[in-house]
Amino acid sequence: MTSKHAIVVKNLQNQVAKYYSQKTPFRVYHGSTNSTRVLTFKRSEMVDVSDLNNVISVDIEKQTVIVEPNVPMDKLVKATLKHGLVPPVVPEFPGITIGGAIQGAAAETSSHKYGCVSQTANWIEYILGDGSLVKASPQEHADLFYGAAGSYGSLGLITATEIQLIPATKYVSVTHYQITSFAEGIKMMKHYANLGTDFVEWYMFSKDRGAVVVGTMTNKIQGRLLRFSRPQDNWYFLYIKEVAATGMQITDSIPLKDYLFRFNRGAFWAAEIGFKDYNIPFNRIMRFLFDPLLRTRKLYQVLQESAASQSYICQDIMLPESGMVPFLDYMDKEFNMYPLGGCPIKPEPRSPLQCNGIDADIVFNLGVYGLRVEPYEKFVAANRQIEAKTNELGGKKWFYSHNYYSYEEFWKVYDKTWYDKLRKKYKATSLPDIFNRTRVNEKYKVQKRRGVIKTVLGIAKLRIVD
Ligand SMILES: Cc1cc2nc3c(=O)[nH]c(=O)nc-3n(C[C@H](O)[C@H](O)[C@H](O)COP(=O)(O)OP(=O)(O)OC[C@H]3O[C@@H](n4cnc5c(N)ncnc54)[C@H](O)[C@@H]3O)c2cc1C
Repeated sequence: MTSKHAIVVKNLQNQVAKYYSQKTPFRVYHGSTNSTRVLTFKRSEMVDVSDLNNVISVDIEKQTVIVEPNVPMDKLVKATLKHGLVPPVVPEFPGITIGGAIQGAAAETSSHKYGCVSQTANWIEYILGDGSLVKASPQEHADLFYGAAGSYGSLGLITATEIQLIPATKYVSVTHYQITSFAEGIKMMKHYANLGTDFVEWYMFSKDRGAVVVGTMTNKIQGRLLRFSRPQDNWYFLYIKEVAATGMQITDSIPLKDYLFRFNRGAFWAAEIGFKDYNIPFNRIMRFLFDPLLRTRKLYQVLQESAASQSYICQDIMLPESGMVPFLDYMDKEFNMYPLGGCPIKPEPRSPLQCNGIDADIVFNLGVYGLRVEPYEKFVAANRQIEAKTNELGGKKWFYSHNYYSYEEFWKVYDKTWYDKLRKKYKATSLPDIFNRTRVNEKYKVQKRRGVIKTVLGIAKLRIVD
């Protein structure tokens, strides 16, 4: 560790110790978020970890990187690629930070092999609720190492972590297999996951039309060489849709970095909604002109400033295999909401707060984004229906989204006795707990125009109040 790291950490420890002695609950602030909840921070109840933004060292022999929590994915990938290495799980939005990824259960299309980002960490350095510093790993403080994954900062504050790396390649070749039912897609994803294929994901455009997209890391170009990161490039999601429309099995190649951040432009299909809302023609020229605004860092600023997340369904669900078809049939019947997308994931039952903390051989993530539901009461009811169905089928939610469980419902899904014991052991009881961090209690005022204007002017920021 560097001396700069030690100085910043010591300073943070002192702040946390002070909050502990005053019994003041505090939240971690790092200048950005990929959560859809509208966040407001109180200056007197937050710890700012923005300065912990360095890649400390890459060990080529061991294939590991030591990194501070506020390092975003694009910076991390750039640093490791210099050494021909890459993290095995790179969430596809480049602004997701490594600390937020561990605490927020980030995952990716390689997660059937490696699990969530937290499952690729060798150790994690935490400041506990009383200000003391510990290193948690499968060997030391293993209960904290596993239990704090996906806990949304409610068990301590990450100050550094060592992440495993794998050899990088120049390209990812992707093959699209067309499917005609939910069951066929799930069977095919499981097949490729079991084969150890590098990347597996799927999309459904209707109940009987979709594609499983399988990716292989390679140094050879197969098919066309396509890019998705420049303003003139197609959006990855539109490309998937176009290939699906041909009904053919097609293989193309994509430079590795373009593949890893392939949804940065457009945030899956979310940004298309903005075009409809403002009656802007959704064509290549307009996408080119508005490109700087259509990248996820900017889109999240619009979302935070506008509070538009309270009129569109945006949920990510994790389900065991047995729950997938019933859940999809239910969504089709009740909401007829397409497209849908997701990927298979390796479970980690030792991390019960993480969305893949499910006791199963394999679990499947499903992103259900984009249906506009108004008024607010109907929106809440729709989210609650999705939550109830998820629980009924043995699934768990991804906590970045809106949660509308009641206190009782929430603690029926999660083990409160285990959680309280861990919080007590690691002196975390003065931090806001996971229920209070993730529940949406307020109705926000939706101000779309304000969100766009402030983002264009470069003055959109996470709210801090005195
Ligand atoms: C539409 C949509 C699609 C998404 N799709 C994907 C996807 O495909 N794959 C994927 O991986 N993710 C996806 N995400 C979400 C993403 O995984 C999480 O939101 C992510 O983990 C957040 O990272 P962040 O750096 O923005 O953290 P934040 O949102 O800022 O933080 C998440 C939590 O971690 C806490 N935290 C942050 N830093 C620290 C620290 N140093 N110590 C302790 N606690 C800390 C925060 O307080 C917060 O509670 C998606 C989100 C949306 C909205």
